[in-house]
Amino acid sequence: MESNILSKSAMSWNTHSIISRIATLNSIDDKEKLTVTPIDTLIKVSGEALSQAAHRFRSQLYRELGLPLNLGNDCQQIITPLDFLRCFRLNPITKFRYVRVMEVEETLPDMIHDPSRDGPPGHSYIDTQLETHISPDAVFLTYSDEPDWGMDQELFSIPAYSMGSPPFGPATGSSSQAPFHMAFFHEKRITYWIMPSLGKRLLIIRSRMCFNLAEIAFNCNQSYWGWRFLGWAAHYLQDVTCPYHCCPFPPKKEKMLKRFLMNPFPKQFVKNNMNFLRNRHALFEATVSYVMNEHFKKQLAHPFIEALKANSKELPADIDLAAREISKLPYLLAPKINNLMVQLFSWPLIDKADYYLGDDPDFAVNGILEQAIEARASYYGEFVELVSQCLHEAGRITRFVIESSRGFI
Ligand SMILES: [Zn+2]
Repeated sequence: MESNILSKSAMSWNTHSIISRIATLNSIDDKEKLTVTPIDTLIKVSGEALSQAAHRFRSQLYRELGLPLNLGNDCQQIITPLDFLRCFRLNPITKFRYVRVMEVEETLPDMIHDPSRDGPPGHSYIDTQLETHISPDAVFLTYSDEPDWGMDQELFSIPAYSMGSPPFGPATGSSSQAPFHMAFFHEKRITYWIMPSLGKRLLIIRSRMCFNLAEIAFNCNQSYWGWRFLGWAAHYLQDVTCPYHCCPFPPKKEKMLKRFLMNPFPKQFVKNNMNFLRNRHALFEATVSYVMNEHFKKQLAHPFIEALKANSKELPADIDLAAREISKLPYLLAPKINNLMVQLFSWPLIDKADYYLGDDPDFAVNGILEQAIEARASYYGEFVELVSQCLHEAGRITRFVIESSRGFI
């Protein structure tokens, strides 16, 4: 049987599964065992419910995109996994992989991190066979990483989907998932007036879809899929607590303006500055993922871990309002966090137009981070303090996902 795990050269960070693990520590009943079930079974037993949910999802999606609803005849029924992908506007080449995230005891303390994102990372996931048993929390943790394995990529370049051009970000490549993984709630009115597409919140529509799918799955006794879809919902909502996912331009506005004045041709400017932003985003995620991983695995205390576990007040029941609330602080802290990180690393390569660290097979944050901390400890201290405040929001929204689904689990 073909392995579900990707080779060492094509792995993604597993930040979401660590966030979910720490945020829900001991709060999901792990005595119950679920059967690993293929998606075909869910499709077979759910009757009309899936196609109705897909119709609802597409209505909301096209309304948000400002496009006429593309009903066509292509989604009258969901009979195969490919129908499922097409009707929920997911990448049709997606493979549903049956894996589980490794337990802390199963991983090596010096497990490396690799920045590409094409599937479950081989260093931290292992195959699960169909019909074997797995606990609900293992499913939830594992699949809170899944939306980063490619299912939201390239959607705007599929002619049959008729989704127009992406509201932001490129139409192809790994960054083409941006409109479903980023949402900007807190810009000034004038920013939305100049760039209305920045206000498009496909992420919320995708999260609603996941809750809906989870409810359908639990209702027809497909708890494995119920927990897997809740993992997806957690992913999207955790994303908006990352400063680079809720703030379109974390580097200081003056700095961007200076760069624009040096090169005032919009197309060329975007081309030259795309990596400027992507490198900062990728370096941030690599750092946070690495620090969390290291400390959790070695069972060492760290403010990131404490922040994820900390008690917090309840969120509004509505997903849109909850996402708005948890992204506020990360949005406000974004410029400061970005600045501290750039000063901490003082690494000129991230400013280069033709370098993207996500494509650099030799990039590893371990090593350069330790050197940076030794040379510039005060920046690190403040960076940790502010990022912890964002992770506190990530923990809050993860528990919100579990709490809001209590009614149908
Ligand atoms: Zn994401």
